[in-house]
Amino acid sequence: MAEETIFTKIMNGDIPADIVYEDDDCICINDISPKAPTHVLVIPRKPIPRLADATTEDKALLGQLMLKVGDIARQLGVDEAFRVVINNGEAAGQTVFHLHIHILANKTFSESSLGMS
Ligand code: AMP
Repeated sequence: MAEETIFTKIMNGDIPADIVYEDDDCICINDISPKAPTHVLVIPRKPIPRLADATTEDKALLGQLMLKVGDIARQLGVDEAFRVVINNGEAAGQTVFHLHIHILANKTFSESSLGMS
């Protein structure tokens, strides 16, 4: 069995985190090392390692997560302007192998940069 990620440990209550929102499908926490004044992570409870590992079985969950991103952005008051990032694979900057969606806001993003900085 794959080793538990830090996000599973947070969801199980084994590690503390600053929880912004949670429901049966996902949890949203403040990023411990924020790259923007608002930087949260939306994490499905299901431990899909990478976006590329999702299957058609996950279709509804992925749609649900995207809707949740909008809801959470509204809840945080940043729905007029925010950036969504999913890193897939180490070379793309993924460090935690449990699918998560970054929501970044309250900073000026350069038009030409698609990164988190
Ligand atoms: P990624 O590099 O796309 O895999 O993103 C992983 C993110 O998880 C990084 O932005 C980290 O700062 C964040 N992170 C790692 N550990 C924690 C933690 N214990 N609580 C909150 N965020 C974390």
